[in-house]
Amino acid sequence: MVDSRAVSSPSQPDEKSRAVLVTGASRGIGRAVAAAFAGRGDRIAVHWSTSRDRAEQVLAELPGDGHVLVRADLADAEAVGRMVDDAAERLGGLDVLVNNAGVFTAHPPLETSWADWQAAWSRTLAVNLVAAANATFRAVPHLIAAGGGAVVNVSSRGAFRGEPNTPAYGASKAGLNAFAQSMAIALAPHDISVTCVAPGFVQTEMAREVLDGPGGDAVRAQSPYGRVARPEEVAAAVLWLASPDARFSTGTIVDVNGASYLRS
Ligand code: NAP
Repeated sequence: MVDSRAVSSPSQPDEKSRAVLVTGASRGIGRAVAAAFAGRGDRIAVHWSTSRDRAEQVLAELPGDGHVLVRADLADAEAVGRMVDDAAERLGGLDVLVNNAGVFTAHPPLETSWADWQAAWSRTLAVNLVAAANATFRAVPHLIAAGGGAVVNVSSRGAFRGEPNTPAYGASKAGLNAFAQSMAIALAPHDISVTCVAPGFVQTEMAREVLDGPGGDAVRAQSPYGRVARPEEVAAAVLWLASPDARFSTGTIVDVNGASYLRS
């Protein structure tokens, strides 16, 4: 039997338009991911939480038709569930979920109060890890109804390299990697791939304080390219991981860090 998807490529104009939910699409990497999918003809649910104006601007600038805005605080499990169902209903199904939204708050262990330590761990794990698990759980019935699809998680180099000033962040991303690999096994029988992309520093607001601060040059020098990633470079990896061509690469974690950290 010939699988027609095996000979297709995302650049072919006759490839079907997919329904894609991107969390944290109001800015940064999520915005670039939304633009990359829309650029190949997909319909996007642009998720936002606090940046309404910016999400509306992202929506207005996306090429193509059929895009929608969806809102949820991802720390609220019920809101996540409603948001996923809302996206699927308004897009006419769901083929791809990109768990991109995240938070990165400094809480150096020797300089942080007990209360702030508690708050940092609760918030970071809720948004970066548990929300991705919840969004995936609620997306699965829609992906199965679509006959298969992809979940792509935006993880981080910090899962492997360590995050001394943001240990909850590193732990949340290591957890996200482990979650994705467990789900890859669980969902393969339904032709759903689950993967991660693990960027090093990326030129977004999340990294601005570090990149514009006194340590910025040292961070850029971590890569032999002498720079950090552009959001579009992360989006390109996400686009491939969500493609039918990448289905058999399920469970993988793709580094986008300019060789700043090479894990074995
Ligand atoms: P960013 O510019 O700070 O954008 C964060 C996005 O997440 C925004 O769209 C924001 O939505 C959303 N978000 C944050 N908290 C939320 C919450 N509680 N509920 C719902 N949405 C929430 O970040 P970014 O740099 O694009 O990062 C995107 C992903 O890449 C994150 O998972 C991050 O950990 C990962 N990453 C980033 C870097 C880097 O250097 N930038 C490196 C490695 C990995 P609103 O603005 O609408 O609230």
